[in-house]
Amino acid sequence: MRKSDKIIAMYDKYVMKTYGRVPLCLETAKGTSAKDAEGNKYLDFFPGWAVSGTGHCHPAVSKAVCLQAKRLMHVSNNYYSELQALLAKAIIESSFPGKVFFANSGAEANEAAVKLARKYGHESGRYEIITMTKSFHGRTLAMISATGQDKVKAGFEPLLAGFTHVAFNDIDAVKNAVNEKTIGVMLEPIQCEGGINIPSVDYMKALRKLCDEKDLVLIFDEVQTGMGRSGKMFAGQIFGVIPDVMTLAKSLGGGLPIGACVAREKFQDVLTPGTHASTFGGSPIVASAALGVFEAIKREKLLLNTVKMGAYLKRKLEALSMKYHFIKEIRCVGLICGVELSIKGNDIYEECLRKGLLINCTQDTVLRIMPPMTVTKEEIDKAIAILDKVLAKF
Ligand SMILES: *Cc1c(COP(=O)(O)O)cnc(C)c1O
Repeated sequence: MRKSDKIIAMYDKYVMKTYGRVPLCLETAKGTSAKDAEGNKYLDFFPGWAVSGTGHCHPAVSKAVCLQAKRLMHVSNNYYSELQALLAKAIIESSFPGKVFFANSGAEANEAAVKLARKYGHESGRYEIITMTKSFHGRTLAMISATGQDKVKAGFEPLLAGFTHVAFNDIDAVKNAVNEKTIGVMLEPIQCEGGINIPSVDYMKALRKLCDEKDLVLIFDEVQTGMGRSGKMFAGQIFGVIPDVMTLAKSLGGGLPIGACVAREKFQDVLTPGTHASTFGGSPIVASAALGVFEAIKREKLLLNTVKMGAYLKRKLEALSMKYHFIKEIRCVGLICGVELSIKGNDIYEECLRKGLLINCTQDTVLRIMPPMTVTKEEIDKAIAILDKVLAKF
């Protein structure tokens, strides 16, 4: 029996089947390349579901984790630790003046954002938050209530009250949904799980204006778009819009679990002692990993590489779209790329896997291609060659 089959058999026996997994057991990885338990090699163009933004096992991250693992791994949040402070400083200095709350995942970072907004609106009796259709905010009960997709909610009713969904990139829809109970608007600056949907600059600016006028908390969920892969450190910066609250997770920890809720000065002291907490939030070992991510992005000029390689990948994908009539549209911002098809994409994604290229398919018809920010031209050429061969079969 292959080692992979043994591992899969153990999953079947002991791990809850909450995921639709493909039969791939990864064992080692570095940058964009990964190896399975049989030693087969893969080119990873969706590393760790957007977690490994600086590539698998980036040396700066691995080193930071290894050193810290021997010094001090966890400090409870009734004490202080330098690394948490340094990480908060790094986040604030690359976003906007304010303060950070640390959690362990994207959903938790969003929970903190929603709690902050509700606390802010409490005295005026406002608690409702407007979110977008096709959004994705996580799998806790509050976040499936916030998410604008029925499939995540089904079977878990009653949901948490206080969320209204409106169409994405439609400012009138938001204006019409605002009422005397509204306290905030929450959205991803680019919808990723929703199919790589990019809003207009006008829409984003109008949202900012509306939230200023109505005293609403504008929350950007940058869990997937944050930390550089849009070509800017945070995707909101592409639109020139600063949110009131921004959430981060996925690639912030370079592979370690972390979440962060970042609040602008006006909102930075809304959550007071005793109102919110997380046992593991911002522990020295994950903070050390995240500082390694910041260091790698700066030292290796990864934002610049993301812009350059993003443009190169987009050109290559557009060339493929001339060749295959079932490619409807290419949507790219930096290294966040979506290939919208007029046919189902799942078989294409699985065939890519068999040919050694890891990508993703979302919303049934959108191939999601998000290589790490360290990706090279040669790697893009290789990936495109595999994709071309695979597409030729459909
Ligand atoms: C992945 C994701 C989440 C949820 O993050 P978890 O770490 O899985 O809780 C929330 N929002 C967005 C935009 C995401 O991509």
